[in-house]
Amino acid sequence: MFTPRISLPEHMPAGEGRWIVVAEDQKVLLVDGRYPCGDSSPVSGCRTHLLGLEDGIPIWAVTASEDGAGDPVDGVLTSKVMEGSGIAEWVNLRSLFGKVCDTDWILAGRASQVLAWERDHRYCGRCGVQTEHHPIDRAKQCPSCKLMAFPRISPAVIMLIERQGPDGPQILLAWGRQFHARFYSALAGFVEPGESLEECVRREVMEETAIEVANVRYFGSLPWPFPHSLMIGFLASYVAGEISIQEEEIIEAGWYGPKNLPPVPIGGMSIAGWMIEDWLQRVSEDR
Ligand SMILES: [Zn+2]
Repeated sequence: MFTPRISLPEHMPAGEGRWIVVAEDQKVLLVDGRYPCGDSSPVSGCRTHLLGLEDGIPIWAVTASEDGAGDPVDGVLTSKVMEGSGIAEWVNLRSLFGKVCDTDWILAGRASQVLAWERDHRYCGRCGVQTEHHPIDRAKQCPSCKLMAFPRISPAVIMLIERQGPDGPQILLAWGRQFHARFYSALAGFVEPGESLEECVRREVMEETAIEVANVRYFGSLPWPFPHSLMIGFLASYVAGEISIQEEEIIEAGWYGPKNLPPVPIGGMSIAGWMIEDWLQRVSEDR
């Protein structure tokens, strides 16, 4: 079990633990397929952040280079890693899923987000003075105007729209422009300031497909560290409208039954996939 902390309990020696080394381009260091362990950072001269304790073991995040410059693969690993028997490799955070256990993948996303926050808030966004670490909270504070900067989390909704079609249950899926190959998923979008999650679901579905929905129900959520989203999943019911896509964002959208699904993100680290699997399970039980 993981417990977030920003400092070690008093009895714990500093530096012991597992080290999640993340380069600015979100590449993560694996040694023999795992995060390096040990009593000191495998990367010299870089600021470290305690993320928390996992089953009592400290989990640290560390940048691959202090200024983010240069090739992360060369010149940053200490001799300890280079001389060790382990094979060091850099794996993109997206590709890391499946290479490490799900818990470790989530921890790498947490590390990436904390390090990005450190990198992006070195100076006060209001007055430009160099910030300092807050002694108690995971926050950076301006010593001049006292503005606090917490790690940024950008909430995004992702929603599976269901309806009873002419031949049975269907879901609304769209091929978004971010996918080069033909690949469909649930609709998604970022929450606007002043908007509730439910309002955001109804607005995004209307904007992207001209479909009116209601009965918005919470499904679950997933941290999505690209770079700092939180995906909040919802189910919703079709009310009215014919599909008319927003062409800047979507290549194609349609209603699909369980027997004619297009390529979808099933079996991975994707809340859209979990919602589609959940729907398939429900409609198969109803038959
Ligand atoms: Zn300031």
